[in-house]
Amino acid sequence: MITDHLPTVFVSHGAPTLTLEDVPARRFLVGLGSRFRSVKAVLCISAHWNTRKPTVNAGKTPETIHDFYGFPDELYRIHYPAPGSPDLASHVQQLLKDTGIPCEIDTSRGLDHGAWVPLRLMYPGADIPVVQLSIHQSLDPDYHFTLGKALTTLREEGVLVLCSGGAVHPLGDPTASIGPGAITENWAVEFNDWLTTAVTGGDVQSLVNYRHLAPHAERAHPYPDHYMPLLTALGAAGAGGRGSVLHHSWDLGDLGMDAYAFDT
Ligand code: ZN
Repeated sequence: MITDHLPTVFVSHGAPTLTLEDVPARRFLVGLGSRFRSVKAVLCISAHWNTRKPTVNAGKTPETIHDFYGFPDELYRIHYPAPGSPDLASHVQQLLKDTGIPCEIDTSRGLDHGAWVPLRLMYPGADIPVVQLSIHQSLDPDYHFTLGKALTTLREEGVLVLCSGGAVHPLGDPTASIGPGAITENWAVEFNDWLTTAVTGGDVQSLVNYRHLAPHAERAHPYPDHYMPLLTALGAAGAGGRGSVLHHSWDLGDLGMDAYAFDT
């Protein structure tokens, strides 16, 4: 499917090594950028930029941040030289202000791996400007849904709202089955099935209250920074938004790699 009409998108970026390994989620991301013809710029909301005050980055040439440790040297040599867009950053700041969310500008921060891992697969030419907007350290579901609602006009302006986290992301749970050759556990599948049903049903109340309603929510997201971008993608689709499954796979056992498009 190739379309001029832009949904908002949630992707699971997995481990940084996703960018090097021939796995289904990587193959999906390689084909994703060309599905949307009319993208003038990308606003990325990544799980890996977590601030006390909402912030957008506004450098003209954002650096590539290697915000991970203990991975192969090859990963630290990757640079993704997409330009920034100070104009888009100012516009996002204003959209948030208009809905009562004060937003700061950071001209020095670059792109973290939650942004560049998917983006260098989607847009290998690095020719589409990228701006990042932080998630909030409160990790409050209502806030991140509201944050998305402030951004609903962007997709009509040709800005792809790309929210990057993880559908199932049990990092921090010492019992989780994660690693090369690991088997995906039943509880992870149960959570993912619940998530898929809520996303495709546009069930905002359940998605916002997932912590109380979803099976194994605390195992799937012990530290829910990788869930929050999903709520922003949902909110940014606009009232009545619901998701469709763009991609489903598992990587390294319990890492759920699903991706969704949200539209009204
Ligand atoms: Zn991550």
